[in-house]
Amino acid sequence: METSLMESVAFNLIKTAVIYLPDDVKQALKKAYAEETSDTAKTQLKTILDNIELAEKFKAPVCQDTGTIIFYVKAGANVKNLEKVEGALINAVRIATKEVPLRPNAVDPFTGKNSGDNTGRYIPFVNWEIVPGDSVELTVMTKGGGSENVCIGGMIVPGEGIKGLKKFVVEAVIKAGAQPCPPNILGVAMGGGADISMKLAKKALLRPLTEHNPNPEIAKLEEEILEAVNMTGIGPMGLGGKTTVLGVHIDYAFRHPASFPAAVAFNCWAARRASARINADGSVEYLSHKVKL
Ligand code: SF4
Repeated sequence: METSLMESVAFNLIKTAVIYLPDDVKQALKKAYAEETSDTAKTQLKTILDNIELAEKFKAPVCQDTGTIIFYVKAGANVKNLEKVEGALINAVRIATKEVPLRPNAVDPFTGKNSGDNTGRYIPFVNWEIVPGDSVELTVMTKGGGSENVCIGGMIVPGEGIKGLKKFVVEAVIKAGAQPCPPNILGVAMGGGADISMKLAKKALLRPLTEHNPNPEIAKLEEEILEAVNMTGIGPMGLGGKTTVLGVHIDYAFRHPASFPAAVAFNCWAARRASARINADGSVEYLSHKVKL
């Protein structure tokens, strides 16, 4: 795989993600606007919808916080030069920071120095999955700081089971309040280990709001948690209303008998992601958006 192609596709995905919210997120926000009855909630959602429209019109980032850049790479086992992919992604981030532009959001935790180009140790972070085939599917998530600050991992008492998980999620949403710029999307995961559940929770944020969990039992749990967290009344931007959360996506791993790790990853209304597939013949399919940059 040509690294220059990977770099240009990654650049296009970053630019697309920060300007154009995916259709499923826009539709969910429009539905929330139609269904809210309080004037304050409607005003907040109208402002968000206007913001989205203006970003598209002026081809400008939908939020000033263009986030931490995270990639998910699903690489075909037969693809050559995979060792050069991370370098291409880092270059794409540097170029996007200058040209889109993106706010520089990568700070050395020891010195407090901002690298100025959204790169640094482990940033952008790249999640790898090796799959059969000879194409590469690339997804970018630009993850806002406000919603990241309230992500939470913990250990449920194993005996409490799913009941304990529900309580854990509702408490996380109440504690988060207005901080993650609601309406939010929640990635919820259990099992594995402390790190595994958080990884799965964050990855679950990539699932479109129109797709429910393929397991009907889990899909039902997603609905139940959605209903419960929306009963908090936190509402759009924390100013009250029916829509605190737009959707809940659950994933899980098997767990140790003595442990019940759980994690909640929050995404804000500016739930930015974009995906493309690069085929072996060099053709590119943009999977998440049908926009011209
Ligand atoms: S949490 Fe999201 S909407 Fe709020 S400031 Fe950060 S990126 Fe923007």
